[in-house]
Amino acid sequence: MGLTGIQIFKLLPKTNCKECGQPTCLAFAMQLAAGKAELSKCPYVSDEAKAQLSEASAPPIRGVVIGTGDNAVKVGEELVMYRHEKTFINPTAIAVAITDAMDDAEVDAKINNLNTVTFERVGLTLEPNLLAVVNASGDAGKFEALVKKAMGATEKGLILCSDNLDALEAGAKAAKGRKALLYAATADNADKVATIAAANEASVVAKGASIEEVSNFTKTIADAGVKEIVLDTGARSIKQVFYDNTMVRRAALKSKNREVGYPTINLVFEMTDDPYKEAMYAAIAIAKYGGIVVMSDVDKERMLPLLVQRLNIYTDPQRPMVVDQGIYPINNPGPDSPVIITTNFALTYFIVSAEVEASRVPTWLLIMDVEGMSVLTAWSAGKFVADAMAPFVVKSGITDKVNHKKIIIPGYVAQLSGEFQEELGDEWEVIIGTREASDLPAFLKEYK
Ligand code: SF4
Repeated sequence: MGLTGIQIFKLLPKTNCKECGQPTCLAFAMQLAAGKAELSKCPYVSDEAKAQLSEASAPPIRGVVIGTGDNAVKVGEELVMYRHEKTFINPTAIAVAITDAMDDAEVDAKINNLNTVTFERVGLTLEPNLLAVVNASGDAGKFEALVKKAMGATEKGLILCSDNLDALEAGAKAAKGRKALLYAATADNADKVATIAAANEASVVAKGASIEEVSNFTKTIADAGVKEIVLDTGARSIKQVFYDNTMVRRAALKSKNREVGYPTINLVFEMTDDPYKEAMYAAIAIAKYGGIVVMSDVDKERMLPLLVQRLNIYTDPQRPMVVDQGIYPINNPGPDSPVIITTNFALTYFIVSAEVEASRVPTWLLIMDVEGMSVLTAWSAGKFVADAMAPFVVKSGITDKVNHKKIIIPGYVAQLSGEFQEELGDEWEVIIGTREASDLPAFLKEYK
């Protein structure tokens, strides 16, 4: 269990210098106790106090990094039960399982999906993350060979799964340097698996038949030097996954129970043979606190909805996704090209720019900062209105780029065209564009 705010306060310098961003040392101590601040924010904590406080200031759910370099994935370190309280931080990692009982063609097809299934959305790359290599044959040699093959076939992080300690050790040695996750330590072999993991720079899954069972030996693993632990509570029905994930999150955050303060892994591929049911199970696990979800395949048909769902859940609801205010040239526009104005909400920008690009009509896109609101929201909030838009257009520099003074506004705000025209003056012409971005290509092709 962590320290209380008062216990932490006693170890702080008590100078109330405010450098940590809090008004007093006591306020900072309370933030630390709640897992909402980092000890490193106070530059004056003594080394002795640091040692005592490191446990208290560790996140209530420890972060676990799997993989290296650009392909490293971090799960855990969540601070809230509900995303409207703050935000969810590290998105659920999606893994695909291959086994040493599959033929080469099947293994190659699944790895190929892992490497190539990727989507661009609102300027972000969405893709599955991890490869779970499963020792279904029970043969250590076969498992080691598959791990070596996987190492050469993908740069993504690896989860190495075997009940056979010799096989697990052989796989861990082969994957040393890739920060693999070893699946799994049980109550009977936790010390041995932890020793293998520590020697090979790997993290460990603690697997049991219930939350209580795994909570009894996570300390054994941590004491052996492996601090990065993932929990498999044995849930193999979606109802149990929902329940266990929720209870683990609650126990870690609300009760500050360090023994279960780790991310979870949900093996949805073991729960059904129906690919669509599996996708639904994965969706529920992503929505309800799953740290890692392991699937039978990461085909693009199932990945697109799951990755978009994950993006939505792990996007900070209090911070809109925005693009910078400015002039965006699309399709190499020139001085005669049309000028479209819209807002800096990322989704608006990417949808409009994609449609303009698809039209192949050279166009200037003028993006106005309205704090990341969509067109109608910004209009109703008084931010995308004539007396704010006109000075922006004049100062934007667009008149240096074009030899005309025509500007196209979104059809949804047609009602502001008169006032906008008045604000801009007679030399400008305000043109009402389309309501839907999807109608822009046809509109632009006919635009003169
Ligand atoms: S920076 Fe440290 S000493 Fe200064 S107010 Fe914060 S906790 Fe206190």
